[in-house]
Amino acid sequence: MNDDQLLRYSRHILLPEIGVEGQERLRRARALIVGAGGLGCPAALYLAGAGVGHLTLADADKVDLTNLQRQILYRTQDVGAPKVEAARDALHALNPEIEIAVLKSRVDAAQAEKLVADAHIVLDCTDNFATRHVLNRACVRHRKPLVSGAAIRFDAQLIVFDLRTGDAPCYACLFPEDGEVEEVQCSVMGVLAPMTGIIGAMQAMEAIKLLAEFGESLSGRLLMLDAKSAQWRSVRVKKDPACAVCKQKGAQASR
Ligand SMILES: [Zn+2]
Repeated sequence: MNDDQLLRYSRHILLPEIGVEGQERLRRARALIVGAGGLGCPAALYLAGAGVGHLTLADADKVDLTNLQRQILYRTQDVGAPKVEAARDALHALNPEIEIAVLKSRVDAAQAEKLVADAHIVLDCTDNFATRHVLNRACVRHRKPLVSGAAIRFDAQLIVFDLRTGDAPCYACLFPEDGEVEEVQCSVMGVLAPMTGIIGAMQAMEAIKLLAEFGESLSGRLLMLDAKSAQWRSVRVKKDPACAVCKQKGAQASR
């Protein structure tokens, strides 16, 4: 690291748990952020600021006036621009040293396969179950840690699936692919703005912990925030022996 980098990241380097070594790990790390909305914006800002060296950002949408209430990468003049392009410019303004790749489409199974294989960590910042399951499958297959966040109305949740370990649950252990889930999207529902910021920032925090290798991750623990009462709750999530996605990986491994 040069002098500017030592200064830029000094408040991380001062932490013995990170230090120069941890900061170097962040610089070499590749993070995939799927969804550049309420969660993806703060997550990407913190990862960029923290010097995570390679970010890949995927989102098919354009910036809309209704986004500006919470999607903190965008400014009024960005309305109409592709989100990933406006996001890349804003992130580079914050930290010109990092590499940012963008994908201006929704992530399908084939894309997820490649993107996840190339990443060290995946942040699920999407707003729909279809993409969440596509990402989960790819993370299970490639044994990549998945940091999953969600926020709607006054409720938000966060969980890490550290799929590098064999006994870790996956997203489908918690929400089965064929399960009856109520598909609610921020695009049509209300959402309290700072909650997406809180959860997105926590996704970045968990990603930094995993990438720099310190602390205890939120692996297998679902953290839930009720904004109205300002209460946090946490429940353990175990691997489901009947989970179709986990079983598929087992079948592949024993082949
Ligand atoms: Zn599973």
